[in-house]
Amino acid sequence: MANYYNENTIIYLDGQFVKAAESKIDLYSQSLHYGFAVFEGIRSYRTTNGSTQIFKAKEHYDRLKHSADSLRLPYNYQSEELIEATYEVLKQNNLQNAYIRPLVYGAANMSFNLNTEAHLTIQAWEMGAFLGDKLLRIGTSTFQRPNPKGFKITAKASGHYVNSILASYEAKDRGYDEALLTDMNGYVAEGPGANMFFEKDGQLLTPSLGNILPGITRATVLDICKDMGIAVEEKFFTKEEVYAADAAFFCGTAAEVIGWESLDGIAFKKDWNDTLGKKVQDAYKALIVANK
Ligand code: PMP
Repeated sequence: MANYYNENTIIYLDGQFVKAAESKIDLYSQSLHYGFAVFEGIRSYRTTNGSTQIFKAKEHYDRLKHSADSLRLPYNYQSEELIEATYEVLKQNNLQNAYIRPLVYGAANMSFNLNTEAHLTIQAWEMGAFLGDKLLRIGTSTFQRPNPKGFKITAKASGHYVNSILASYEAKDRGYDEALLTDMNGYVAEGPGANMFFEKDGQLLTPSLGNILPGITRATVLDICKDMGIAVEEKFFTKEEVYAADAAFFCGTAAEVIGWESLDGIAFKKDWNDTLGKKVQDAYKALIVANK
């Protein structure tokens, strides 16, 4: 088992700061049986002046509310109070570079009836930056992303990650580092837990919203490109267009900005260091540790 907590770890649970090792969940929860829960994945960083800063905290907690509302899970929190609670969790666990996992889940309810109660927990554990150590070998998945007509795909819902995990297993079974999934129309969508961009003829392209999770890092990359004068086109495209690209990368809170070596064994033409993705990666790296 991975080391997410020990006997001293403190989590936030329904307004209290309690020990992780002494906390329980209800085994009769709709969330456990049907994957009916919502969550966030957030990072905090030690900034250049030594302080701890949660990156894009408001955006993440606003999305958590949107996710809970989408699934009609009771949610009576302001983003500001949860941000404050998250800083307290970090402080009590002595964490600076951390991964933060808020989760909203239902109480006992085996039926398909509306949840009248929900719980909220915030957990955090140490996580260093992943940025750019090693380029990824990506394989196109046989799995497609959930159909927006079947799921609330702009919600970060637990059940959607059955799809992500199946795709990731398949990619690794085939010897790839990670999967690239298409949407229900066969166009390139996203990774199991990250959005994608590719470079072609001096500009970046990324899948349009509609069939993907609207990533907070994706939005940050778009902001960075605007600041740097890098042109970005949002559209629907095929994997063959990505095969012909000069470079490509994933972006996400956990993945940060990470370049690809190849897609389905077809190597990208440009050296990562000469790509627009590398420029974006450097700018992102500076942003996450900048003091606000
Ligand atoms: N797509 C999926 C399916 C994800 O799980 C994630 C991670 N939350 C992302 C994209 C990237 O989103 P963000 O940048 O908000 O972390």
